[in-house]
Amino acid sequence: MRPTVLDPLFAPVSTLPGIGPKIAKLVSGLVGGLPDRDATVADLLFHIPHSLIDRRHRPGIAYSENGDIVTLDVTIGRHMPPPRNSKAPYKITAFDDTGQIDFVFFHPRGDWLAKTFPEGERRIVSGKVEWFHERPQMVHPDYSLKPEEAAQMPAIEPVYPLTAGLASKTLQKAMKAALEKLPDVPEWLNEAHLHREGWPDFKEALQTLHAPGEKSDIEPQSLFYQRLAYDELLASQLALALVRAHMRTLGGIARTPSGALQNAVIGALPFQLTASQAKAIEDINADLAEPVRMLRLLQGDVGAGKTVVALAALAQVIETGAQGALMAPTEILARQHFASMAPLCEKAGIRLALMTGKDSQKERRIRQEQLDAGEIDLVVGTHALFQGSVTFKDLGMVVVDEQHRFGVHQRLALSGKGQGVDVLVMTATPIPRTLVLTCFGDMDVSRLTEKPAGRKPIKTVSVSLDRLDEIMSRVGAAISEGQKVYWVCPLVEESEKIDLAAVEDRHRVLEHELHQRISLVHGRMTADEKDAAMADFKSGATRVLVATTVIEVGVDVPDATIIVIEHAERFGLAQLHQLRGRVGRGDKPSSCVLLYKGPLGETAGARLNIMRETNDGFLIAEEDLKLRGGGEILGTRQSGTPGFRIARAEDHADLMEIARDDARLILETDPDLKSERGEALRCLLYLFGRDTAIRLLRAG
Ligand code: ADP
Ligand code: MG
Repeated sequence: MRPTVLDPLFAPVSTLPGIGPKIAKLVSGLVGGLPDRDATVADLLFHIPHSLIDRRHRPGIAYSENGDIVTLDVTIGRHMPPPRNSKAPYKITAFDDTGQIDFVFFHPRGDWLAKTFPEGERRIVSGKVEWFHERPQMVHPDYSLKPEEAAQMPAIEPVYPLTAGLASKTLQKAMKAALEKLPDVPEWLNEAHLHREGWPDFKEALQTLHAPGEKSDIEPQSLFYQRLAYDELLASQLALALVRAHMRTLGGIARTPSGALQNAVIGALPFQLTASQAKAIEDINADLAEPVRMLRLLQGDVGAGKTVVALAALAQVIETGAQGALMAPTEILARQHFASMAPLCEKAGIRLALMTGKDSQKERRIRQEQLDAGEIDLVVGTHALFQGSVTFKDLGMVVVDEQHRFGVHQRLALSGKGQGVDVLVMTATPIPRTLVLTCFGDMDVSRLTEKPAGRKPIKTVSVSLDRLDEIMSRVGAAISEGQKVYWVCPLVEESEKIDLAAVEDRHRVLEHELHQRISLVHGRMTADEKDAAMADFKSGATRVLVATTVIEVGVDVPDATIIVIEHAERFGLAQLHQLRGRVGRGDKPSSCVLLYKGPLGETAGARLNIMRETNDGFLIAEEDLKLRGGGEILGTRQSGTPGFRIARAEDHADLMEIARDDARLILETDPDLKSERGEALRCLLYLFGRDTAIRLLRAG
C-alpha cells in the first residue's frame, strides 16, 4: 500500500492548471510517464531544468552580445507596422543611453502591442538579443513591464528540456503548481550521512532545483542535485537488493561435483590458463557449491579468453547430470563457439549440440527430443534458442555471451527457463564499473584482467581515405609475407542497400588490386555462405576477409594480424575497440588501420585519438562514457543513464557505490523495511517507481 502522504504526488499531471488532455500527453512523453497512463505530479517534479535564464543580466543595448538573454531598461520609440498584405514583421524601436534596438513581431495583435509598448514610455523588456545586419533586435520579447511592476519578473528562471508543442511558460506554470503540492515526507536517509554531506532534505532539494538562486544550484555537483541523485540511486540499489534477496530465498541447487569433467576440459586445452581465468573458475565453482543461484558477470576485454572460463563452468554443472546452454548474440558467433568447443567437448565426453534460428523444422524437432531425453549435455545457440517452446530435461546453467547485445528483457526472460538456474553473463564490452552497478546491482563480478601470455600490443594508426591506394598496396605487401587481413566496411541500418553495395564494391576492388580471391561476409548471405567464407579465411585459403560488422563480436582467427576499418569515424568507441580485438590474438605483432573520411567532427576525432593512444578496454569504456551518455553504451536510445531520471553515471559514480553499501546495510538490519526508517524508505521506493520490489517483502 502506498503511504497516503504521497497521494498528492501521484495525482495525474492533468490535475495541474494549464494541462488539458492534449498537453498531458506531451508532458507525459517528456517526463517519462508509463505508456498507459498520464505522468504524475512526481514524474513532473523529477524533470529537472537543464539551464537558467538570468534576468539580472543588464548590459545595455550596445553591449548586448548576439544570442544573449538580457533585460533592458528602455524608452519605447516608434511603431512601424508593415504595409497591408505584407508578410514583413511589425517593428518597434526603443533606446537606452547606449543605443537603439528593434523589437520584432510576427502576426501580432495590434491593440496588444499598443498597450504593452506605448510610445514614449519607459519599459523593462527582457528577451534574447540577436544582431542582424549590424543592428540589435529582439524577436518576441519574453517580458515587457512597467518599471514599478519589474519585480513580477523572476530574477532567475529555470529552463526545462521541452518537446514540440509544449510552451516553456506552460511547463513553468504547471511546475509551480506541482511544487505547491509537495508534501513533507519522512526522512529516509541516515541522519549522520545527511549531516556529513551537508545535504538538504528531499523537499528543499526539489524546491531549489526548480527555483534556483544561482546557476551552480542546478549543476550535477550541487548539494541539491546530489541529494536527489542519491535518493534515486538508493531507490534503485535497494530495489535490486530486494530482488536479489528474494532470488536467494527461492534457492538454487548446491553443485559439488568431483571436478573431473572440468579438469578434463582444462586438460584438453593447448595452453595454460591465465591467473585471472583460473581465479574466475574458482569463483564460479564456489558459487555453484552454494545452495543459492549464481548470478555472476564475467567481464573481460576482447581476446581475454572468456569462452574457456564458460566451458569450464558448464562442465562443473554437467558433471552433476544437469544441462547447460550458451547463448550467443549472432549466428556466426554461435557457430564459432560450437566449432571451438567441439574438440574440447569431445575429449572431455560432453555431448554438444548447435541450435540456431536457421535450423530446419526436422533438425529442430530432433534436437528438442534429444534435449528432453537428456541426450544433449550442452547446447550452443542464438537467442532463438530461448524463444518459444524450447525445453530441457534439466537445465542447470545458462551462459549469456556478449550481454550488451541482448537488452535487459532477454536477460530477465532467461531465468524463467528452469528452476534455480545458475546464470553467468559474459561481456566483452568492458562496461565501466559504474554502469555495472546501475544495471546489474549487486551482481557478483569476475574480471579477466590480463591477456593470455605472449600477446603483442596492437599498433593503431588513423589514415585519411584519400590514401586508400597506399593502404591497399601495404596490405598487398603484408599478405605476400603471409599475413592475414580483415577489411571492415560499416553497415548502417537505415541505408543497408547502399552499404551492401559499398562492401561488394570494396570486395571487387580489392580482388582486382591484389590479384587474388578474397572472402566476403555480410548480413544478407546465408549461413552456409558465411561459414564457407569464414572457413576459407581461417584455413588460409584466402588471406583477406572483407566484412561488414558481423565480425564485430567474438570472431576468432588467431593468425590474423591486420584490421582495416573503413569509415572509422562512423563507429562508436566500444565498437572500434571490439573490432580491433579481432587481431592481436596470436604471438605476432598486429596493427589496426582506422580509415576515415574527413573532415572529422570533434567527437569522431576524439574517438580516433583515444583508439591510437590506448589498448586498454576499460579505459576506453570510461572515455566512451564521457563522450556519450551511458544509454548508448548499453544500446538503448535514451540519453543520460538508462533507467534514471536524475542520477547520471558520469557525474554520480561515487554516490552509486555509497548507495549500494547503504542498501546492503539497510537490508541487513531491517530486511522487511519495518523500522521507522524502513517505512520512510518505502516512500522512497514508491517515489522513484521502484515499488514492485516492495511486493517481494514478506507479507505482514
Ligand atoms: P573473448 O574473451 O574475447 O571471448 P576468446 O575466449 O574468444 O576471447 O579467446 C580468444 C583466443 O585466446 C582464443 O583463440 C582462445 O583459444 C585463446 N585463449 C584463451 N585463453 C588462453 C590462454 N590462457 N592462453 C593462450 N590462449 C588463450
Ligand atoms: Mg568471446
